[in-house]
Amino acid sequence: MWSRIRSITKTPVRCKHCGRESSLISQSLGLCSDCLRHNYDEVLPIIKQAHEEARKSFNLPPYSPKAEAGVACRICVNECSIAEGGVSYCGIRTNKDGKLKGATADRAKVSWYYDPLPTNCVADWVCPAGTGAGYPKFAYRRGAEVGYKNLAVFYHACSFDCLFCQNWHFRKLTNSGDWVTASKLDEAVDEHTSCLCFFGGDPTPQLPHAIYASKLALKKSRGRILRIYWETNGSMHPALLKQMAELSLNSGGCIKFDLKAWNDKLHIALSGVSNSRTLDNFRFLGSYNKMRPSPPFLVASTLLVPGYVDKEEVAGIAAFISSLDPDIPYALLAFHPDFCMSDLSTTSKQQATECLDAAKAAGLTRVRLGNIHLLRE
Ligand code: SF4
Ligand code: SF4
Ligand SMILES: [Zn+2]
Repeated sequence: MWSRIRSITKTPVRCKHCGRESSLISQSLGLCSDCLRHNYDEVLPIIKQAHEEARKSFNLPPYSPKAEAGVACRICVNECSIAEGGVSYCGIRTNKDGKLKGATADRAKVSWYYDPLPTNCVADWVCPAGTGAGYPKFAYRRGAEVGYKNLAVFYHACSFDCLFCQNWHFRKLTNSGDWVTASKLDEAVDEHTSCLCFFGGDPTPQLPHAIYASKLALKKSRGRILRIYWETNGSMHPALLKQMAELSLNSGGCIKFDLKAWNDKLHIALSGVSNSRTLDNFRFLGSYNKMRPSPPFLVASTLLVPGYVDKEEVAGIAAFISSLDPDIPYALLAFHPDFCMSDLSTTSKQQATECLDAAKAAGLTRVRLGNIHLLRE
């Protein structure tokens, strides 16, 4: 079952703090995971510098703005307060003449495509489209929904700044192209569309648009099966999360949270932002999960970044998920070198096995390894 990708010989990088050399240190961060975990305060300036570097070529501000008399946005954990003429952390909002301008419920930077079902997604191994779970109420067929399609909706902004971002190209689109209305997006939902999946970038900064578009699409579907899905970093305001949850719960869809790291220091180093809101939100969704165990309402995933997201991280995340419900599906995803961390190799077979074992040891009953073609010896 393992791929034949061979070990990649890569020049070791020296940790800027402890001096240790390893091929599991990315040049862009220049720090080993031990220093991130145990010497965080001392290495924080190096972490900040790495994110400043990653953001400046996209004209994104290095930190979430906190202007005293700025205009406020509370859509995500960053809680920007933007000074006159300034730009939000996600890049999709500005302050013009003392007013918040940019994305709204009726305009977004977004694109979409059709994905014939069954498709390769984080939840395909448990969802109605991939398995027929929930048939006949929530699925058109007993097995995979062949003949139907997913409308994959890609939002062009994000509330995090992951150095390993696998979809980093969205950053080039945040401030280009036209604004798209929710009704224009809704026109793309036809009678063969059985699910609508919002991802990106991340849907979070433009959630009012996604929620509005979902409501329009459900109204148009007039009771036929149309499931609403979200693939997200989970950093949104809880009031928006509640609306997302209701839409997915009632339509047979689900919410897929990417839990990137358990240790918050490591999370900030890798993704630029704390994981606290994400974990609080995931905990909140645990109560919804009990209302509709099948098809699964809540799914988690973690990207196994070599040298950083190891068995210790996975064990922490898995224990957290298990404490909410051991039957919540959890997908571990092999890493592909990308964006600022394109100098790392792919996930090793050993790392994947250790992480898989850690997730199972935490009591989770549904754990899966995805992207196994990327695993190296
Ligand atoms: S949350 Fe996802 S889209 Fe956003 S920066 Fe991280 S990996 Fe990229
Ligand atoms: S959605 Fe964007 S503007 Fe709003 S708080 Fe988050 S980063 Fe700031
Ligand atoms: Zn170090």
